[in-house]
Amino acid sequence: MVSTVGAMSDVVLVTGASRGIGLAIASAFKAAGYQVAATCRSEDDSAALAAAGFFPVTCEVTDAASVDAAFDAAEAALGPVTVAVANAGITRDVLILRMSDEDIDAVLQTNLAGSLRVARRAAKSMVRAKRGRLIFISSVVGLLGSAGQANYAASKSGLVGAARSLARELGGRGITANVVAPGFVETDMTAALTPERQQAILSQIPLGRYAQSSEVADVCVFLASPAAAYVTGCVVNVDGGLGMGH
Ligand code: NAP
Repeated sequence: MVSTVGAMSDVVLVTGASRGIGLAIASAFKAAGYQVAATCRSEDDSAALAAAGFFPVTCEVTDAASVDAAFDAAEAALGPVTVAVANAGITRDVLILRMSDEDIDAVLQTNLAGSLRVARRAAKSMVRAKRGRLIFISSVVGLLGSAGQANYAASKSGLVGAARSLARELGGRGITANVVAPGFVETDMTAALTPERQQAILSQIPLGRYAQSSEVADVCVFLASPAAAYVTGCVVNVDGGLGMGH
């Protein structure tokens, strides 16, 4: 039977929706007619998300109880979450000889273990509903590697193994699991790079420009839509061609 995820009333939960790509993903799902539970970590962000028409929930992805409570709150208000986007992520860039245990633990706990916690709680409701879409926000860095980002790259390539395992484990329950791997996205971070560094990066990108956050978000909406019912275990690069072949 073809999954009907993507219907107007479906509930999506997006982690790390206070800003950046997560906020763009939440906005794109809202524009597509979904009810959106947007997670954040501060009172101010919660108020801003509520004012923008999202259902704000507090969620610290390094804390399993917080993740479970966020889903419980969203589902009590909106109904079962059938689309979960594990977007929350951090970097602690440093060369390996100087990388502290804290640099390793913080990145793996947030990006990899945090995403697994989100998937575990999401799967509980999706198995019951017999349908669902798990979407993991990785990075081109997880596929290509990047000097000074061994912790981050490990966390992001780990999401590929996680998603493909869940695609196998949960496929029979009508649940898909996919990875979105953005390249360089137009953010404050990329704007702050020197013109020389920007030019060096752009010369490696076949499309010759950075991505807009909305271009990452649109792919997430597609993966949740009925049109993507037969797409699972995939890594979808949204990187202007930077990481192709990986
Ligand atoms: P960002 O602007 O730094 O936003 C990160 C988001 O994650 C914020 O909402 C932040 O919440 C949340 N977050 C961080 N740690 C958390 C935790 N422990 N628990 C719950 N929420 C947490 O990052 P971004 O650039 O939008 O990136 C979003 C995702 O895309 C990340 O997974 C990143 O690795 C990936 N990505 C980004 C790029 C890029 O060029 N920007 C490229 C490839 C992949 P607070 O506001 O409370 O801190």
